[in-house]
Amino acid sequence: MSITRDDVISWLNAYGQVLAENKDYLTQLDSDIGDADHGANMDRGFKAALAKLPTVADKDIGTLFKSVGMTLVQTVGGAAGPLYGTFFMQAGTASANKMELSATDWAAALEAALNGVIARGKASPGDKTMIDALTPALVTLKQAVSDGADMSEALRRSAAAAEQGMKDTIPLVARKGRASYLGERSAGHQDPGATSSYMMLKAAADTWGK
Ligand code: ADP
Ligand code: MG
Repeated sequence: MSITRDDVISWLNAYGQVLAENKDYLTQLDSDIGDADHGANMDRGFKAALAKLPTVADKDIGTLFKSVGMTLVQTVGGAAGPLYGTFFMQAGTASANKMELSATDWAAALEAALNGVIARGKASPGDKTMIDALTPALVTLKQAVSDGADMSEALRRSAAAAEQGMKDTIPLVARKGRASYLGERSAGHQDPGATSSYMMLKAAADTWGK
């Protein structure tokens, strides 16, 4: 089974809907340890990215991802816009000219995307950021693929690892981004970016794992 271009579009739309539904929740998380804009940032960015998708809907998956990434960089300020923008632009480079993705291709795209976020944001695992959800998701996805798990099982395991990584940010003290200004007071709160990253991979598992 592979992920077609239409599947990618379905996923992006599904994630946009999840972000719209969870806008207040993500903003609430960001109000605890940031400046209360993460939900609005992600919702605004994805609405803009989805509005542009019809102009590239007949193109390869790499072009679709790059379009999303560029729109996020252009429309979302703060940390998350450039970081999610980089995520999608790097996923796009890894998926250049592809009209469908195997599980291995998706793992390669996710790896390139995560590496882009790390290169841009300079966060390490345990710094209480989105990479604390993305890193275990990637490790688990690659393991599942090498174990020979089918696509839906691999995606389900990857999303579950992201969820655990998200929850594991709660006790952490933030060392990157605005939350780091709070020092020890950032502990005891779930990271907003790790939460939106989990939601992204959960939407992938729900959309592609059917
Ligand atoms: P801002 O912090 O500029 O208001 P958002 O509220 O939209 O931007 O996003 C905050 C999220 O961005 C954090 O919860 C964290 O997951 C992520 N983040 C912040 N800085 C970094 C970084 N240097 N590397 C990776 N992720 C980061
Ligand atoms: Mg914020």
